Amino acid sequence: TPLLELRSISCGYDNTVITQQLSFQLQAGEIACLLGPSGCGKTTVLRAIAGFNPLLSGSIVQNGTPISAAGFTLPPEQRGIGVVFQDYALFPHLSVFDNIAFGLKGRSRDEKREAVAALLQLVELPDLSARYPHELSGGQQQRVALARALAPKPKLLLLDEPFSNLDTDLRRQLALEVRSILKAQGIAAIMVTHDQEEAFAISDQLGILAQGQLQQWGTPTELYYRP
Ligand code: ADP
Ligand code: ADP
Repeated sequence: TPLLELRSISCGYDNTVITQQLSFQLQAGEIACLLGPSGCGKTTVLRAIAGFNPLLSGSIVQNGTPISAAGFTLPPEQRGIGVVFQDYALFPHLSVFDNIAFGLKGRSRDEKREAVAALLQLVELPDLSARYPHELSGGQQQRVALARALAPKPKLLLLDEPFSNLDTDLRRQLALEVRSILKAQGIAAIMVTHDQEEAFAISDQLGILAQGQLQQWGTPTELYYRP
């Protein structure tokens, strides 16, 4: 059974169709990228997968169970899907520790301390746990956001242009680091980007989105050699 199946989903707002009849499957541990120009609907698709927006038609199936379909949307918090979205910035009034521990509700203080320390190490940050988001660089903030999303140990992570506010070199370096973290932890991911080089570098499966439709879907090698 695939970890996630999109079955001919159409997404949009009110009566506006933004993307039409997308279908693809993601296996456990696989990293997919959706590549397309700004405004083509990448965020809209990701929000539908997260459960923030209902579908216009089609269905999304997680481990064989429908989580979105016509007239039914399982709430985001019941999907066990981690998100790193631009509008889910770090909580500015919470320390790094509390931001990361946000996803560890119900655990003891000692368990949280241990988990946060391990997560900081995973995302290669020194112990900045007492700092506040505004005291961190952009790259450090993105690493904290990643640690927060990974804290509940999701099987699937959604990343919406996670490093878009960083310069190109740092963005690509972080993208490669994220890939190795996800691979080491066996976490699947769907990342949207408009950066073709980044998409080819980090994805196992790559989707090209344009004119509201998935134009191509395949491995980077397949897409590279396809005219
Ligand atoms: P991308 O992530 O590829 O840049 P988006 O999914 O953000 O594209 O946007 C796709 C289209 O959906 C755009 O035309 C945008 O204006 C429109 N859109 C985004 N959010 C909303 C909304 N809340 N209500 C209506 N239209 C929206
Ligand atoms: P505290 O107990 O210190 O208030 P909480 O962990 O309950 O801290 O929440 C911290 C803040 O983050 C709250 O103001 C809450 O409204 C906000 N918050 C919680 N979840 C989200 C979210 N997914 N996106 C944006 N803000 C959120």
